[in-house]
Amino acid sequence: MECFLCKGKLENKPTAFMADLGACIVIVKNVPSQVCSQCGEVSYSDEVARRLEKIVETLKMTALNPLVPTEIAVVNYSVPAA
Ligand SMILES: [Zn+2]
Repeated sequence: MECFLCKGKLENKPTAFMADLGACIVIVKNVPSQVCSQCGEVSYSDEVARRLEKIVETLKMTALNPLVPTEIAVVNYSVPAA
């Protein structure tokens, strides 16, 4: 596979994904991804992207709970979101 930006070579490696939810920042560690060795562009497979969405959705509900305010939530991709 090639990078869609610069046609560089993509390498499979785990990266950290970050989502800014406003009141809370979510970081998902060890996400399987393809990183361009040339420009550093990170891309995910459809399956990984879908799962990331789900993880963020789940965290949103817990992190934005006004009773237990959380500013930064860090989870591991390999561990299923509760
Ligand atoms: Zn590239």
